[in-house]
Amino acid sequence: MSLIESVDKAIEEAEKINKKLNCFITICGDNARSRAKKLISQKNKGALYGKVISVKDAICTKGIRTTAGSAILTNYIPPFNASVIEKIEQEGGIVIGKTAMDHFGFGTFCTNVGHGLPVPHNPHDLQRAAGGSSGGAGVATFSFSNSANHIALAESTGGSITAPAAFCGVVGFTPTYGRVSRYGLIDYANSLDKIGTMGKNVEEAELLAGVIFGEDKKDETSQHQETKTVKKVKKIGIIKEMLNNVDEKIKKVFWQSIYELGLEYEEISFPLIDYSVASYYIIATAEASSNLARYYGMRYGAQEEITGSFSEHFSKIRSKYFSDEEKRRIILGTFVRTAGYKEKYYIKALRVREKINEEFNLLFKRFDVLATPSMPIIAPRFEEIAKLKPIEVYALDSCTIPPNLACIPHLSIPIGKVNNMPVGLQIMCNSWEEDTLFRFGKESESKLGLIR
Ligand code: GLN
Repeated sequence: MSLIESVDKAIEEAEKINKKLNCFITICGDNARSRAKKLISQKNKGALYGKVISVKDAICTKGIRTTAGSAILTNYIPPFNASVIEKIEQEGGIVIGKTAMDHFGFGTFCTNVGHGLPVPHNPHDLQRAAGGSSGGAGVATFSFSNSANHIALAESTGGSITAPAAFCGVVGFTPTYGRVSRYGLIDYANSLDKIGTMGKNVEEAELLAGVIFGEDKKDETSQHQETKTVKKVKKIGIIKEMLNNVDEKIKKVFWQSIYELGLEYEEISFPLIDYSVASYYIIATAEASSNLARYYGMRYGAQEEITGSFSEHFSKIRSKYFSDEEKRRIILGTFVRTAGYKEKYYIKALRVREKINEEFNLLFKRFDVLATPSMPIIAPRFEEIAKLKPIEVYALDSCTIPPNLACIPHLSIPIGKVNNMPVGLQIMCNSWEEDTLFRFGKESESKLGLIR
């Protein structure tokens, strides 16, 4: 099959999947076809030649609408590409569409979407959520056939890759903070945001990751780091406190997979980890509230005729286009960094984060990898989600927040099922040890068998 034919087929598939599962905000068929035509005449085909890439809608794509899942950006068309998109195109990858997400990444189920934007359904049970915030990426990764040659670009701040990967039964990879340029990523929380990948298996996630890694002059927090020696994993650490919230049936699948891996393991106690969710939501919302100040109906996205004073106009736009959850995070984030409260909340949260990082560093002196279940529950039903209080939703990030807060690379792989819904294993490595992570991930996949 020629590249053009296979891209055509992939677009057709994307449309079919989308009808049933709502995972795309935009399918860019014309764009993909014209890229394919250009590529054919190119000599250097690149590492992603023949692959179609779906892109989380928080990542800017030149000339293609990029909403970050928010009503305030539904008409935003970036005039530039994010650095990761440039790299993907240089290596012959073809962007096929933009995937659904919780607005600005604010969510765990991909149900917090701006007015008029899609809420994806879980491909294993349409009554259940896909996981968030990169829900569309998880659904697309599971649903495309192998012959579509699809890989997804996603993003995580506090678990947005692991959660949908676990709920949809695919592999999700989150790199060390700084390994991948954030230039052109619509910010949620700058000190936590990381662009990563999702594939049907570790090899696919690794292939796309290899293309986007590296220093970028446009993002001063990005770094090039020599690959550390790839370790042969001998001993796994399991943090007891990270299992506390986990459903009993999921724990059973988790322990079964640890036994089947056949390696030495040890349970350890890390009491401070219980403060990670609280400190994350303080740091993340503080940064988000500052980032969201730029949306006031003038520079990006939603615009309306100006009426009244400037502040009346800004309030009108922000009240109308931001959802309750966006407002909640702006209010919380503004509060924790306000003079008088800063020391009590924001600064304290930063200190907790530092302590958690120190503790992780110590653990990695004793263990090559750490493992936990990816999520404490299976994908919940939409009706169950509607009954949850925000604080109950936040608490469900207890497995994914620690590695994100510590900026360490982690991988979620499918290991089994509970009530016919996928369950994931989360593996964490020390900073910059992605190669060890991939190698161990592939080993685990072959020992445990790919279960979807
Ligand atoms: N659920 C977390 C939050 O809402 C993490 C989401 C993310 O990684 N973007 O902040």
